[in-house]
Amino acid sequence: MADQPQRVRERRTYEKFQPPKRVLLGPGPSPVEDRILEAMAAPVLGHLDPLFLGCMDDIQGMLRYVFETDNRVTIPISATGSAGMEAALVNIIEPGDEVVVCIHGVFGERMRDIVERAGGKPIVVRAEWGHAIERANIEAALDSCKPRALAIVHAETSTGVLQDLTGLSELAHERGALLIVDAVTSLGGHPVGVDRNGIDVCYSGTQKCLGAPPGLAPITFSERAIERIHARKSKVQSWYLDITMVEKYWGDDRTYHHTAPISMNYALREALRIVCEEGLEARWQRHELNHRALVAGVEAMGLEMNVAREQRLWSLNAVRVPDGVDDARVRARLLNDFNIEIGGGLGPLKGKIWRIGLMGSGSTRENVLLVLEALHSALNEEGFRCSSGVEAAAAVY
Ligand SMILES: *Cc1c(COP(=O)(O)O)cnc(C)c1O
Repeated sequence: MADQPQRVRERRTYEKFQPPKRVLLGPGPSPVEDRILEAMAAPVLGHLDPLFLGCMDDIQGMLRYVFETDNRVTIPISATGSAGMEAALVNIIEPGDEVVVCIHGVFGERMRDIVERAGGKPIVVRAEWGHAIERANIEAALDSCKPRALAIVHAETSTGVLQDLTGLSELAHERGALLIVDAVTSLGGHPVGVDRNGIDVCYSGTQKCLGAPPGLAPITFSERAIERIHARKSKVQSWYLDITMVEKYWGDDRTYHHTAPISMNYALREALRIVCEEGLEARWQRHELNHRALVAGVEAMGLEMNVAREQRLWSLNAVRVPDGVDDARVRARLLNDFNIEIGGGLGPLKGKIWRIGLMGSGSTRENVLLVLEALHSALNEEGFRCSSGVEAAAAVY
C-alpha cells in the first residue's frame, strides 16, 4: 500500500528527490546553467534589504537591455509566463473594451480566454496552426471595431511560427489601440526590439530563451500603456497583477506589495548576466545558426519541417512525424535511452509534429548533433529507415 496516495494524515519520511540532469530540448523549460543554479543557492535576503534592492535594480537594467527598451516600468512579475500574459491584458482592458486577438496556436487562444475573463470583447483574427497571421486580416479586424488593443504572439511555441511584427504598431496606434506582444519564446533568442517595434506591452518567461528556471515573467510597459492604465475608470480586476501597485515596490517607493521570490530573482539576475556577457546580437546569431544546422540535419534524414522557411522560429523547431511512426514512442525512446526531452504536438497538431526546442543554453552545436543522432536511432528502432542527419548538420557549422 506504500505506493497508494496518502489519504490519512500521518507522518512519513521521504527519500531526497534527486532528478537526473536531462537534456531539455522541448518547448520549455530549457536547460539551466550551473552558474544559475549556484546563484539560487545564495542566502535569502529580506525583500527590502538594501542589497536585494540593488539586485532588483540590476535586473531592471538588464531587462531593459534584453527588451531593447527605455521603458521605466520594466519588471519581472512573480509568477510564470502566463501571469505575464494575464498582467499585460488585465491592466489594459476594462469591461466592454474591444481587443483584436490574433490566434494561430495555443497561446493566442489563451489570450482570448483572458480577454473574456477580464470582461473584454475579443475580435479574433485566425490563421491555420503552422502559419503566421496575415497582416491584411489584422488590419480588417482593427477596422471592424473600436480596438483598445491588438494582442499577438511573436513566437507561437505550439506551432514553431515566428510572427513578423513590422508595421503592427502603426496599424494599432493609428486606430488608438495599444500593441501587446507575447515574447515568451522569442526574448533572448530572436530580436524583439520593444522600442524599435513600437510595442506597448511586452512580456516573457524565464524558462525559454533566457535560460533560467520557470517562475518569473519579465514585462515592460510603454509610457502610452502606463497613461492608459492611469486613465482607467475601474480598478484592475486582479489585485496581485495590478501593475500600479506592483510598480510601487519595483519603483522608487519600495512599498511592500508581496514578498518577492528572492531566489528566483537571483536566478534571473544570473541568467541576464549571461545574456549581457554574450551580447544580444551574438545570442540571436547562435540561435539562428543552430536552428539552421538542425533543419539541414532533419531534411537530410528525409523528414520535413512543418513551417514554411521564412516563418520558422529559431528557438522551436516543428518537425513532421513521418507516416506510420508513433510520435509518443519515439519521444519515450529519446527520454529513456538518450535522456533527451522533446515536445509533442498540441491541439490539431497532436501526434503530427515533434517540437524540438533550441533555447538559451540548450541552443548548441553539441545538442543539435546529439538530438539528430538520437532521433535517427529511435526512428530506425521503430522500423522507419532513414539516413543520419549529423553530417549535413555538421556541414552548416
Ligand atoms: C510558455 C509560453 C507561455 C506561458 O508561459 P508559462 O511559463 O508556461 O506560464 C505563454 N506564451 C508562450 C508563447 C509560451 O511559449
